Amino acid sequence: MYRTVNNGELSKKNIGQQVTMCGWVQKSRDLGGMTFVDLRDRYGITQLVFNMETNSELCEKARSLGREFVIQIVGKVIERASINKEMKTGEIEVAVDQIIILNKSKIPPFTIEDQTDGGDDLRMKYRYLDLRREPVKNNLILRSEVAFHTRTYLKNQGFLEIETPVLIKSTPEGARDFVVPSRLNQGEFYALPQSPQTFKQLLMVSGYDKYYQIVKCFRDEDFRADRQPEFTQIDCEMAFVETEDILKTFEGLMKNILFETKGIKIDEVPRMTYADAIRDYGTDKPDLRFEMKIMNLESVCKGSGFNVFDSAETVLGVVVPGGAEFTRKQIDSLTDWVKRPQIGATGMIYCKFNEGGENKSSVDKFFDVSALKSWKEISGASDGDMLLILAGKKSVTINAIGNLRLEVAERLSLRDPNLYKPVWVTDFPLFEFDEETKTYHAMHHPFTSPNIDDMKLLETDPKMVRANAYDMALNGTEIGGGSIRIHNKELQQKVFNLLGFSDEEAHEKFGFLMEAFEYGAPPHGGIAFGLDRICAVIAGSDSIRDFIAFPKNNSGRDVMLDAPSKIDNDQLNELGLQTK
Ligand code: ASP
Repeated sequence: MYRTVNNGELSKKNIGQQVTMCGWVQKSRDLGGMTFVDLRDRYGITQLVFNMETNSELCEKARSLGREFVIQIVGKVIERASINKEMKTGEIEVAVDQIIILNKSKIPPFTIEDQTDGGDDLRMKYRYLDLRREPVKNNLILRSEVAFHTRTYLKNQGFLEIETPVLIKSTPEGARDFVVPSRLNQGEFYALPQSPQTFKQLLMVSGYDKYYQIVKCFRDEDFRADRQPEFTQIDCEMAFVETEDILKTFEGLMKNILFETKGIKIDEVPRMTYADAIRDYGTDKPDLRFEMKIMNLESVCKGSGFNVFDSAETVLGVVVPGGAEFTRKQIDSLTDWVKRPQIGATGMIYCKFNEGGENKSSVDKFFDVSALKSWKEISGASDGDMLLILAGKKSVTINAIGNLRLEVAERLSLRDPNLYKPVWVTDFPLFEFDEETKTYHAMHHPFTSPNIDDMKLLETDPKMVRANAYDMALNGTEIGGGSIRIHNKELQQKVFNLLGFSDEEAHEKFGFLMEAFEYGAPPHGGIAFGLDRICAVIAGSDSIRDFIAFPKNNSGRDVMLDAPSKIDNDQLNELGLQTK
């Protein structure tokens, strides 16, 4: 038997017991007569002790152990002379009688410690060593917990976990497909699923009215921070449901995950329409951990002869709590921040409402005391606050002020990592209109049903049609999204037409789905959550990469495997990808 007990498990009540243990040598310390070795496995660390006086040969052997050697020991649990309260096993140590070296280790290229000296690339190359580190290990434990509680919750709700194929035909989720050449059908290609969307809809037609799957999805996108070409979804679909049923069911899922993994109880998840989210927060994934709603200041700012405001399509502001204290330098740095090309504002105007009632703005030349007073009133600012104002083109300004709101909150530490504020955003537009190409795109995907009240607009003004689509955002990150689907062939065909597909193209790509709609398709809808994302947000991290055992780097490479890589000519020929 390799081991009778794991590391990280022994305590005072085990004193006197004989144990056999295995693990990796974290470090050893040689203190003259005594040698201490920290033995590590995924359960924790145990201090081993060797005494030169009682067994010099064994002590010498312990001293020869290198970092990350894999060893087995037999020994006795004893009370520690100097207790370490920081450590779970800090009250005991194991006096070793026997050591077996199970395997040696080269010196690792970086230290296997919480704070490692290894840079990103090195840790990715030796990901199997990085995974030994406590913080990375805890991330994977969290991920496993989230997946486990998802399965338990959905099982209890009557869902079936059903797998769908990976070698398929394109599914439109708005990204490029990864394709796989077919050897047996030369010149033809499979696509990897961007999501199991069409399959889960077909399962509804088949009568499996509550489906879920924790599933890999593949999207070939250009570099975007915090994206992985393959990622995992908690993919779900239900039949005979309306939006309300979906929101209730999956609000329950999130509550369950947050409670089971963090012990956090959340109240009912608030709901907000897309239009309100954009108006109040400048984004469809609002961070509700703090207030700072966006204010429309057009009525008090425009028409005073100040050209920046007068010529702007819109004038928007946010109140910074306690912002009157901001220094010139802090304000300048925010101005520079909003002027970065990613944000795109042309400038920023501020107005400080000082304690004692004196107001001071960066445009005092153009606005008098009473004007500033009206700004204060309309924005609801208090003494001690500051109003930040952006003006310009509507789309740019709303986006910029939304980002400014987040940046200021970040700088003021208002984005509390211990707070969890989910929100449903509903009533997304069905289509986005691309001004350049003058074409419509599906905002969610082409299978999303239009809001019944907007049906007429499909003919007259498709941009204004609202969809039965919803997202869940948590702390400013979109963690899931879905919709009630179209289940009628004619309507589906019409939406395809609006999206620029001819009947033939629609048939060629999605004929199977539209045909299925003719065989008794029930009303249905669903949602998919990003598992990697949920984990990252729960852990308060910006990066989904840290929650994936073997992630790709920012350019989509697996630097450990060195993939993607070239394949040899024989293989290319076999696939019909090379002229001989
Ligand atoms: N397939 C969609 C997505 O991946 C989710 C859904 O509509 O259920 O975003």
